[in-house]
Amino acid sequence: MKSCVVTSPLHYEIREVPIPEPKEGQVQIKMMAAGVCGSDMHIYKGENPNSRYPLIPGHENVGIVTKVGSGCKNIKVGDHVVIDYVIRCGECYQCTHGRGNVCEHVLVRGSGTDGGWREYWCVEEPYVYKIDDSISWKDAALIEPLTIGEHCTARARVCEDDVVFILGTGTIGTIIAQACKLRGARTVICCDISDSSLERSKQFGADYTINSKTQDIAAEVAKITDGHGCTVAFDSACFPGSLTMVMQPGIVCNAGRVVPMGFSTVPEQITTQMINGRELEIIGSRMSLNQWEPTARKMAEGKYHMEGLATTFVKFSEIDKVFENIVHPDPAVKKTVILFDGAED
Ligand SMILES: [Zn+2]
Ligand SMILES: [Zn+2]
Repeated sequence: MKSCVVTSPLHYEIREVPIPEPKEGQVQIKMMAAGVCGSDMHIYKGENPNSRYPLIPGHENVGIVTKVGSGCKNIKVGDHVVIDYVIRCGECYQCTHGRGNVCEHVLVRGSGTDGGWREYWCVEEPYVYKIDDSISWKDAALIEPLTIGEHCTARARVCEDDVVFILGTGTIGTIIAQACKLRGARTVICCDISDSSLERSKQFGADYTINSKTQDIAAEVAKITDGHGCTVAFDSACFPGSLTMVMQPGIVCNAGRVVPMGFSTVPEQITTQMINGRELEIIGSRMSLNQWEPTARKMAEGKYHMEGLATTFVKFSEIDKVFENIVHPDPAVKKTVILFDGAED
């Protein structure tokens, strides 16, 4: 089988290796589709401090079970499955307090340990979830990013009383907009610097859009909210200074919640007055927990607007194009999905 290995920053190779056999408690999965995430790009460029090399990237993986090891109870050969990339110990403070995605010993497939840009993969059964056969592979690869939206909106306790502000309308921004709408949020306001991206965000749930290049964010928020401000804000733009921008007066109201989605190490210009003057909650959100099955179910039920969420499909045999786009990004490529043999029909 073929396996894609990033050997060091900006270097990768396609290796021919034997198909792995499932050990006790493992299932063997033939990969069908894999999403390309911003974090894969950071790994390739050597910008992810948690990444080791050599590494098989990829954490947005779906496939068909081709063999099961002894002792497997729930997963059967032929099942369509999604793979959970957050390996946790189950015993630490976080794992025993419902926060296993930030387990003290967390190991992340596709960055801390090998991921799924390969044709076959053996994974422990508890980290494999069955998904409905009716979901196309193209859509199934997006279950992972959708779990991110489900998790961060759960962390932010988004509900029908909420007026949500989302900075950044890339894949995660539009997914957060959808997740907020599914939770019944009253109003979703998307903010970006690209008119075409803002226009696109409307099909994913944006009720109002603000172009921060040409409009004053606080003034527009005041107009839309009758001067009350937004109750929740997500920073999915994640550029240096973006969190400071979201926390400026006039965007989030008193008692509001703010969720930064990025992992930047550049300090922000945030004062205690900006937090305590409004008694804001700053809520962290990393990966997801307990979202795989509900998200796959909602997808099978047609709850998500999938059309156009992935913009680009690349065959695994043409994975060079994925790396080429990381080095020379095309602005029209928002989300790429790698398709393996047999995934296109
Ligand atoms: Zn991802
Ligand atoms: Zn743990």
